[in-house]
Amino acid sequence: MKRQFARVAIALGSNLGSDVGNSRETVRKSLETLGNTEGIELIHASSLYQTTPVGPPQPNYVNACAVLAVELSPLALLDTLLAIEAQFGRVRRERWQARTLDLDLLLYQDLILDSPRLTIPHPRMQERGFVLVPLAEIAPDWQEPITGKSIAQLAKEVDTQGVIKLEL
Ligand code: AMP
Repeated sequence: MKRQFARVAIALGSNLGSDVGNSRETVRKSLETLGNTEGIELIHASSLYQTTPVGPPQPNYVNACAVLAVELSPLALLDTLLAIEAQFGRVRRERWQARTLDLDLLLYQDLILDSPRLTIPHPRMQERGFVLVPLAEIAPDWQEPITGKSIAQLAKEVDTQGVIKLEL
């Protein structure tokens, strides 16, 4: 049977390293892990960005986005992302706390889903410069299915102050 792949966008973030260097490594390694995962192909990865955190004082974040081809259902993919987060030692405490690795499922084809465990498109992606700037780099023409606006358009409409591309 022909294999069916869904086009998916995810966001990656890390800020638990004692410095940006560690977080950079975490994001790079997690991209590598994703690409080596059964049922997931890494199609595009954005540059890494350093971003100023929201909420109480904590280290800067390193953020990136990736476009994947996946053979997994949305929920199976969520479970895979959570398992990779756990593998990188994320300890779940309260919201906004520093974390080793955060993986968010942003877009799954043009699917709109609102279920207890999973909301797609990710409900806060539109207000996050640290998601839209990296995503616009690799998928500017992808239409966010609720607004019908392209990622490039959404990135123009959001505050992108404090989102700085890191040199390689
Ligand atoms: P957080 O710790 O804030 O990243 O929230 C993670 C939890 O949010 C997961 O356990 C999911 O059940 C839930 N969730 C709902 N929608 C999404 C999504 N689009 N991507 C990732 N997690 C989601």
